Amino acid sequence: MKKLCLDFANTLQWHASENPQEHLNSYKDLMDWGHKKGILSEIDIQKLNREARRKPDASEKVLKRAIELREAIYRIFSAVAAGAHPEAGDLSILNRDLAKTMAQSRITPTKDGFTWDINGNKEELDWMLKPIVRSAADLLTSNELDRVKECADDKGCGWLFMDRSRNRSRRWCDMKDCGNRAKAKRFYIRKQKK
Ligand SMILES: [Zn+2]
Repeated sequence: MKKLCLDFANTLQWHASENPQEHLNSYKDLMDWGHKKGILSEIDIQKLNREARRKPDASEKVLKRAIELREAIYRIFSAVAAGAHPEAGDLSILNRDLAKTMAQSRITPTKDGFTWDINGNKEELDWMLKPIVRSAADLLTSNELDRVKECADDKGCGWLFMDRSRNRSRRWCDMKDCGNRAKAKRFYIRKQKK
């Protein structure tokens, strides 16, 4: 799931604007997001909930680390999408978590080959960060990296996505949203020139 890291970056909406909108306001939000993305099962969540209640400070710390990681991921892919080099500091945040993830990664057989499997204790409060880190590493080293784009909205939407269009011409997070606004603006400017 290479796109997972981009979805994670998008949990802060209007990322490139002055007034971004946070979707991860608590450890529970982080868990719920993990569940929605299929990283954590219902049972995982119940166990984590109990653990988080027992260790409020530790779960708060995991949330902070998750946000720090998310912002590094955002800046890395935002730079890549703009054809620039990511900051070394952002790469070291990612690499710090990658080292922990790789220590628990295993190769396991599948029906038609092998795959990476992230082992470790799913009841650990920060387990869910591992698949995200893995996805960022996979995407950065994949031949699909040039498909990563950031919404071209000039108000700072900052949505990261994979451009799956055949001629790689997608510019907006959503044609109904930023795309539509841009279209309306172009239309308005054209009309004014007449
Ligand atoms: Zn957008």
